[in-house]
Order: sequence, then C-alpha cells, then structure tokens
Amino acid sequence: MPLPHQNRKQFIKTISIAGMALLMQKVEALNKKIPYSLMEESNGNVIYYSKFNAEYTTLRKGFNKRIDNYPNVIALCQSSAGVAEAIAYAKQNKLKVTVKSGGHCMEGLSCLEGGLVINLSLLNTVEFIDANTIKVGPACTLKKIYETLLPKGKYLPGGSCQTVAIGGLTLGGGYGLLSRKYGLTCDSLQEVTMVSGNGNIVNTKSDKELLWACKGGGNGNFGAITEMKFVVQKAAATMQRFKFRNQQVTVEKATTICSKWFELSKILPDTCFSAFIFNGRTTYILLTNIEKNNAVVNNFIATFKALSTKVSMGTAMHLSQALKNYYAEANPITFKNASAGLYKDFTEIESIIPEVFALVKKTPGIIYQVNTLGGTIQNAALEQASSFAHRDCFYFSELQAYWENPASANKFLTNFEAIQKVFAAKGIVAQYRNYPDINFKNTDELYYGKNIKRLLAIKNKYDADDLFAAPQSLRTGTIFPA
Ligand SMILES: Cc1cc2nc3c(=O)[nH]c(=O)nc-3n(C[C@H](O)[C@H](O)[C@H](O)COP(=O)(O)OP(=O)(O)OC[C@H]3O[C@@H](n4cnc5c(N)ncnc54)[C@H](O)[C@@H]3O)c2cc1C
Repeated sequence: MPLPHQNRKQFIKTISIAGMALLMQKVEALNKKIPYSLMEESNGNVIYYSKFNAEYTTLRKGFNKRIDNYPNVIALCQSSAGVAEAIAYAKQNKLKVTVKSGGHCMEGLSCLEGGLVINLSLLNTVEFIDANTIKVGPACTLKKIYETLLPKGKYLPGGSCQTVAIGGLTLGGGYGLLSRKYGLTCDSLQEVTMVSGNGNIVNTKSDKELLWACKGGGNGNFGAITEMKFVVQKAAATMQRFKFRNQQVTVEKATTICSKWFELSKILPDTCFSAFIFNGRTTYILLTNIEKNNAVVNNFIATFKALSTKVSMGTAMHLSQALKNYYAEANPITFKNASAGLYKDFTEIESIIPEVFALVKKTPGIIYQVNTLGGTIQNAALEQASSFAHRDCFYFSELQAYWENPASANKFLTNFEAIQKVFAAKGIVAQYRNYPDINFKNTDELYYGKNIKRLLAIKNKYDADDLFAAPQSLRTGTIFPA
C-alpha cells in the first residue's frame, strides 16, 4: 500500500501491481455509473483514490474521529509535479479542492466532502540545508522535527502535540511553550514552494507578499504548499514546569483564581509560558520556564502555591525530555476543540467569566483554557513580516471536550455553542485559524482581521477561480462578487 512510510520506488511498484485490480474496479465503477474512476496513475507523481479503494479509508481519516467527510477523490501526491497534475484533474472534473498535511484540523477542513483532497502525507521529511536552516515537507510531524533538531542543539518554535504537522501549524501561525521567547512557528519561515490554485508551481523567492501571506493566512487558501524552509534557533538547555491545582472549586473561587492568574501572567518574563484551565470542578495553572526563576516568577509561584490545594514543582529537565511531557495523544480521538477568543487582557472578559464558568460547571467534560501569548510574538518586525493578525492579543483561549460514547456528543456540542455565544455577545471577535469552528460566521474577519484585503489580493493572484474552496477558505467572490 502506498502509505506515508513508502519510498518512491515502492510507490511506483504499488501502482503497477495495482493495475489489474484497477481495471476491474474501473469496470465496476462504470457499471455503477460512478462519476470518477477509482485509481488513475500518472507518471508516479500522483495516485487517485475513491471510496472503492481500501486505502481511501486510511487516507480520508484525520485526527478528530468526530469528523466524517467523504471526498470524491483523494490524490496522494509524491511531488509538486504530482500536486500540479491533481489540480489539473480537479479542474477537468469540476471538483473543489482542499489540502491535507497532518490531518489535525479540528473541524476537518482538510477533508472536503464531495471534493478532491490533495493528500501530502508522503511529503514528510526534514533535513538540514546548513547549520541554521532546515528544509521540511508539510506533512512532517513536530515529533520528527524536534527529534532531528534537538540532538544538534537546535530548535524550531512549534506546538506541543507530537503528531501535528508543520504544514497546517505554520500556515495558521503556530504557537507553543517557547513562542514568547522565539516567536510563532511562522516567524521562522524563510521560503515556501506552492502549487497554486491556478496550477503553477511558485516559490516565494520571487514573491515576498506570498511569503507574508503564508505566515498565518495560508491554510487551504491559495494553493498547496509542498516545501518549506525555516531558520532554526539555538535550543534552550532545559525547561522546568510547575502545576498548581485547586479541586472542588465553586464558580466564585475559580473566578478569583482566574483573575489573579491574568494579573500575574501578564508580567512573566518571555522565558515562561503559562495557562489557566477550568474543567468545572478543578482549576489548574501551568507554568514553564526555560531559564532560572527571577523575582517575578518566584512571586507567581509563591502566590499560586498559597492559593492551591495541590502543587507539583518539577525539576529543570533537558528540553527534549521536557517537551515529551506535552506530546499528548498520538492516535485519533473524538473531540471538539475550538478557539474561544484572543484578548489583550482580563478586562475584555471579566464581566462574563462567572457566566462562562457556570456553563462549564454545568457540563462536566467541557474545559476552558487560556494560554499566554505576548513576548517576542509582539515584536514589531515580526508583525510586519507576517499576516498573523492577532499579535496585539496577549492571551489565546480555547474550549475543549473529549468523549468516546457517541450519545454524549449532542450534550457537549450544544453546551459548547452556548458558551461560545456568551463570548460572541461580549464582542470577542479575534479567533485563531488553527483552532477553527465550523459554527463561526464571518471567518474572514475573525481569523484574518486587518490583513484580510491583502490576503484576498493574494487569493485573487494565485487562485482566481476559487478552486481551493473548503468551508471557511478565502473566496475571490468576497472582493469580486459575481
Ligand atoms: C491535539 C492537537 C494539539 C494541537 N496543539 C497545537 C499547539 O500547541 N499550537 C498550535 O498553534 N496549534 C495546535 N494545534 C492546532 C494545529 O496547529 C492545527 O490543527 C494545524 O492546522 C494542523 O496542521 P496539520 O497539517 O496537521 O492539519 P491538516 O488537517 O492537514 O491541515 C489543517 C489546515 O491547514 C490546511 N493545510 C494543511 N497543509 C497545507 C498545505 N501544505 N498547503 C496549504 N494548506 C494546508 C488544510 O487545508 C487545513 O485547512 C493542535 C491541534 C491538535 C488536534
């Protein structure tokens, strides 16, 4: 089976072995009047799958088991040339397109119902070009990147989940435990190769505006990014982590802790990351630091130690080991997780927090989390160089719910939406594109804010016919209505 672990030779061999079965499948498809042939080879660059192929099921699935979309065709591409062929195929067959790298989109925007999915899972390598630059395939996982870089004392500021791919992460921004020190993932992006919706293979060396657009505004909008180059940083030697827990808290107590956390997290040094979490019963405060604690950090620790029922103080660990504590689940799970707004400070949400916490308490299993941004992310030069629109926000919040029993889905989804409505009514509009929600309206504004006009001009230049048209993708029709 031509799955991600195969090399080019094995891939081509698979295609020829498949020939006989393919013919039989095509006959069957024609008999059933199925519009698209089942597996069509072309030069070893791309192989097309429809639902009659066993591989279709594997390739269709993403990390979120809640999402169940069925594309007409999945084009498993081996190269930029393969992607260009797949785009021509989509045009010929009047199929809308989306692109999938690591399949971690929380709302399945990389798996287009009824369209064609460009599957880039074979483009998953990482290699050093020189001591401080790496070339990466979009489907390369964060785990693979960290495991390649850290033994050499290098680091790329990414997210925490091991199986998230660099493609989707970077194109939407990419924040993580060390972003306040090193910037967003997209801030390290130097060069991109893309096959545009117009069908051309382009490189950002000849268009700096496209590079700007890919740094925060590039998920499934202009084309399929097939190669990325990043500058890498000297890795921090160690990371220390702290956890402060309060069990059986009331809404009032959770609100008091949350308010204190906003006050003290705002002044933490850039070497620290912190998060506030409330699951309806327990509050958690996470803190990490890649340097020695200064007076501000010590005060943060002392304050929450006094306010907590359980404290866990980690020792400073080698960065490669410390990051593993946040790797999370590698295999697909059933969940809902979405951006709950980015804000500058607590005053923006203070008046609604008791209502939000009461709703969280009402539905055990729903989690509200706020993470620190700020620090280097707010650097003016980085802001100018990228289309990530929310650098003025110091905090990024998210709602989460995880379940296995399908009967729980409705309860979680309904109450999730009720909480989102409270934030929307309060006027919270900035949302993180990498934590999308299918319920969000006017996503151009929510995700891209002040940068929307520049991004739409790039859309018009590279995908004038709106071939890339998953839900929430930019549309040229927005600027040039039919
Ligand atoms: C468990 C989990 C943990 C996470 N942790 C973090 C975190 O710590 N920090 C953070 O910032 N984010 C985090 N995320 C969000 C993550 O950044 C996004 O889900 C990201 O878009 C996933 O990228 P992907 O390539 O794996 O997903 P995909 O589903 O393949 O793609 C996601 C989106 O990007 C588009 N896209 C993907 N590849 C390309 C490409 N090559 N060219 C053009 N468009 C493309 C897709 O069309 C889709 O819209 C997490 C997500 C999960 C599920």
